[in-house]
Amino acid sequence: MARGLTELSTKIGKFLEYSCDGYGIFDQDDILIACNKAFADIFEIPHHDIINKSFADIVRITQCSQKGIKIDSTDIEQWLIYAKSRRRSQEFRVFEVDLMDGRWFLLSEQTLADGEMLTHARDITNLKLNEKHLAESTVKLRTLALTDELTQIANRRSFIESVKSEINRCQRQQAAMAFLLLDIDYFKKINDTYGHLTGDQVLVTITTLIKTMLREYDIFGRLGGEEFGIFLAKTSPKTAEEVAERIRETIMQHNFVVDGNIIKVTLSIGISLATQDCKFESLYKNADRLLYEAKHAGRNKVMLATKAD
Ligand code: GH3
Ligand code: MG
Ligand code: MG
Repeated sequence: MARGLTELSTKIGKFLEYSCDGYGIFDQDDILIACNKAFADIFEIPHHDIINKSFADIVRITQCSQKGIKIDSTDIEQWLIYAKSRRRSQEFRVFEVDLMDGRWFLLSEQTLADGEMLTHARDITNLKLNEKHLAESTVKLRTLALTDELTQIANRRSFIESVKSEINRCQRQQAAMAFLLLDIDYFKKINDTYGHLTGDQVLVTITTLIKTMLREYDIFGRLGGEEFGIFLAKTSPKTAEEVAERIRETIMQHNFVVDGNIIKVTLSIGISLATQDCKFESLYKNADRLLYEAKHAGRNKVMLATKAD
């Protein structure tokens, strides 16, 4: 029986020696008294050199050679005081560390009753990379879902979402705000005369021109086809009208050059003014009505509500 146990522990010893996971034992004075090769590799110190070094010395050596654990402090001694206060603060501790060479490890520390500490380290670099790619993909997907593919500004869904939250914010601050609905005049004719691709290019150029005329916090989106929305927070009716007039004039004066052709484009704008209790839907409806009036009045016009409604 005793012989069996000895054999088993020898086998387990071999198993640990060749394991990809790192195993290390620190004594009561935090001296590394035993470890396998994988553990020494974390610090990039040869096995025969790392044995009998204190935890503090291992950290000092690796920091000098820019290897091992990444430490978010320029003062190593100060960091060691902090690390010492954490080590053995609990019977069992699990945490992630990243290394200067980009690897990540999941470390667990088990403190025994006599003060010895068993450390286990598992390489989780691939897991972390997958996590990072997943987070990046999520951001990319979210951006794609919120962006209009052609013009690269907010699409209808994200525009409405942003405007709704901005309306709430302005209402809380009792600030004036205006909603501009823009529609290109006779756009169908541009498509019919020059082709759909030229129409697309006109849409992109109009977007670029309008963007330069807006403040960073104005909300600009493509609501569909050749219809755009602009939400101006903290903006008086007079300023909103000035902004709309400037946009109308700029587009009217711009020479859209496509395949050597100079194309002239105009647009019509309806402006509705937000009240302290209005909802996006009524703001949109009113702007749409005013836009219709602008079209009816001959196009290339700005129509503003006479009062906030
Ligand atoms: P109005 O002055 O009354 O607004 O006339 P309009 O011709 O601009 O209006 P209408 O709604 O009749 O036509 C809009 C056109 O916009 C029809 C559609 O083919 C075109 N359109 C919608 N989306 C796109 C797009 O992404 N690219 C291009 N090139 N054309 C588009
Ligand atoms: Mg149109
Ligand atoms: Mg339209």
